[in-house]
Amino acid sequence: MLRSSHGVETLRCRFVVGCDGPDSAVRDCAGIGWRGRPYTEEVVLADADVGGIPAGAGAQVFAGRQGLLFLFPLGEQATWRLLATRASAGNTGGSVGQPGAVVAEAELQRLLSDAGTNARIERLAWSARVPLRCGIARRFRRGRLFVAGDAAHNYSPATGQGMNAGIQDAVNLGWKLAFAGTGSANGPTSGFDADVLLDSYDAERRAAAHRRLLLTHTSFWAEASTDRLPSWLRAVAAPWAAPVVPALLGRRRLVAEAVRLISQLRVHYRRSALSVEGTPPLRGAPRPGDRLPDAAVSTGGPPEELHGLLARPGVHLLLQRDALPPADALAADRVTVLRLEQPWPRLGGRPPGRARRLPLRGRRSHGAG
Ligand SMILES: Cc1cc2nc3c(=O)[nH]c(=O)nc-3n(C[C@H](O)[C@H](O)[C@H](O)COP(=O)(O)OP(=O)(O)OC[C@H]3O[C@@H](n4cnc5c(N)ncnc54)[C@H](O)[C@@H]3O)c2cc1C
Repeated sequence: MLRSSHGVETLRCRFVVGCDGPDSAVRDCAGIGWRGRPYTEEVVLADADVGGIPAGAGAQVFAGRQGLLFLFPLGEQATWRLLATRASAGNTGGSVGQPGAVVAEAELQRLLSDAGTNARIERLAWSARVPLRCGIARRFRRGRLFVAGDAAHNYSPATGQGMNAGIQDAVNLGWKLAFAGTGSANGPTSGFDADVLLDSYDAERRAAAHRRLLLTHTSFWAEASTDRLPSWLRAVAAPWAAPVVPALLGRRRLVAEAVRLISQLRVHYRRSALSVEGTPPLRGAPRPGDRLPDAAVSTGGPPEELHGLLARPGVHLLLQRDALPPADALAADRVTVLRLEQPWPRLGGRPPGRARRLPLRGRRSHGAG
């Protein structure tokens, strides 16, 4: 039943996905439990004009005993967005992850001073306290009900994972629901148990959420905890180690690896029921369940980006050299076959492979993606 300013509407649908945030009503109605706890630290957000910072300066980060304090150039409403962590001062009057009570200018000024900066707040446009918690739903699927995004998992903002994780949930679940909802006898998932397909969402995304929780929890502990060790790390060890940071940022492989981790490009589903390794296993190629790396490939004409070729909705079958496609795949709807004539693209590598499309019946541009 949907209630809005236009009245009450009753809708019958095959599946429901609760993308309704940390206090998810869908999760509660489905009887899906939640395991987690509130943080004793909170985030303070503010938009302000701040003096004492050189004009044109980029993002600033200050490490204080109370936690980290960031200043991001804003340009709307005020010149800077301040984001700081501190021990929670009790009820914020807001929901988890949502902006709650206002923070007084004097308190914000104290946060800046405690972080060891001479920056001064000259005009405050807006401020809020944001309560945080970490936790994961006990399951992401119950029958025809699913949860995704913050309804399924909640993190601290450390390393910026929440929104990106929710988008990956949606991508993972979207194509499975499309196939389960429209599966035809001649579809690429014909003969495949729809329950196995839909259960894989829970198996794949909940395991990824657990790994991410470890990353965000550890980062947040270092960033915001007022325990002795993290306070010492921020106040004493961080300034001592700061001169090394530019050299580390110059190490491209190290930075690339960190970016892959934080941007969730390293997420894989090798243990999923959907990931089946053939024999003999391919060498030097992505393994079943890995994210397919991009590479320049040719379909007979000039090289094209592999990801661009795969953007067409449906199932894509990549064949290496003279590999034979399974006959039932060729007969299925919504299947596109590409033959790579050179070795598989490696993660991060860009060897130009040659690929040609096989003429296939049933190649269409609609359907699930
Ligand atoms: C300070 C801070 C910084 C962050 N920085 C980052 C970052 O850099 N990168 C990143 O990836 N993530 C970041 N996040 C996390 C990110 O904001 C969240 O993970 C993301 O917004 C969650 O999106 P969602 O759609 O799942 O839930 P929400 O954004 O909570 O949206 C849920 C929606 O459902 C609606 N709703 C709820 N109940 C009902 C109902 N019963 N009926 C109808 N509608 C309902 C709500 O009104 C809301 O619009 C940050 C979070 C915070 C607090």
